[in-house]
Amino acid sequence: MVELDHDSAYQLLVATILAAQSTDKLINTVTPALFARYPDPTALAHADPAELEPMIFSTGFYRMKARHLIGMAQRIVERHGGQVPETMEGLVDLPGVARKTANVVLGSALGKNEGIVVDTHVSRLAPRLGLTAHSDPVKIEQDLMQLLPRDQWSIFAHRLIWHGRRVCHAKQPNCDQCTLAPLCPSAALAATPELMPPRNGRPAPPSRAERARTAAERTQGAGGARLAAAGRASAAGRASVIGGRASQRAKTVPGKTAKAAGSAKPAPKAPPATAKPPGKKRRPSRESRA
Ligand code: SF4
Repeated sequence: MVELDHDSAYQLLVATILAAQSTDKLINTVTPALFARYPDPTALAHADPAELEPMIFSTGFYRMKARHLIGMAQRIVERHGGQVPETMEGLVDLPGVARKTANVVLGSALGKNEGIVVDTHVSRLAPRLGLTAHSDPVKIEQDLMQLLPRDQWSIFAHRLIWHGRRVCHAKQPNCDQCTLAPLCPSAALAATPELMPPRNGRPAPPSRAERARTAAERTQGAGGARLAAAGRASAAGRASVIGGRASQRAKTVPGKTAKAAGSAKPAPKAPPATAKPPGKKRRPSRESRA
């Protein structure tokens, strides 16, 4: 499910470190030559920064990433006999590796559900879906781990990330065509465009007081009924259903085209196993600043 090309835990670890503040699509163009030149941690541990940096220049922050990659490989050689550690403790001890990267490697390369990947998409969608009240990734992960059965932790994050990339966009969630709308407390946003962030060419956004008044009115109407219904369902039950639906194709509004229904983009198709995401800049991550 992870969209970074890899054949081993080592390769996924390298690719995930490189993916900070970049895109999976770009990283997949860089890693084939990198893996050919440095096929294992021992080779990478002896890399010359002057040779490595130009190879990863296009991924951004190349000096810091080169330092992390070499440091990570050296520690794997020194403390783990050249094998990528298979525990959370061992992984987060490596330079450039925090809990998110460790969860990616454990879940997608090693088949271990030790935690839940909380990236920018999961951080955005989990509160929108009413699965957490927190914005801190560690607390979001703890909340999701409480809601979901352990064997669903890895796949749930992948599905939410897929949904965030293709349907529930940061600035303009495609609520009209979202298969999760019946379960989502934030679906009322689709009928309340004045609550959405302003976009170029649109009227000035309403004041905070106006937004609050509009939200209150919506809450007492159809949106309120949806919120109440969502609140009655247990968070855990909704989380499981959400995990199952998040990777489904966006629905089509009867009698409307995607454009007529108010969405900026047509309904996306469900991805094949080898699908790659559209290129998009990511927000800075903690790991990249480590
Ligand atoms: S209804 Fe769907 S697109 Fe809209 S906020 Fe909820 S999850 Fe996102």
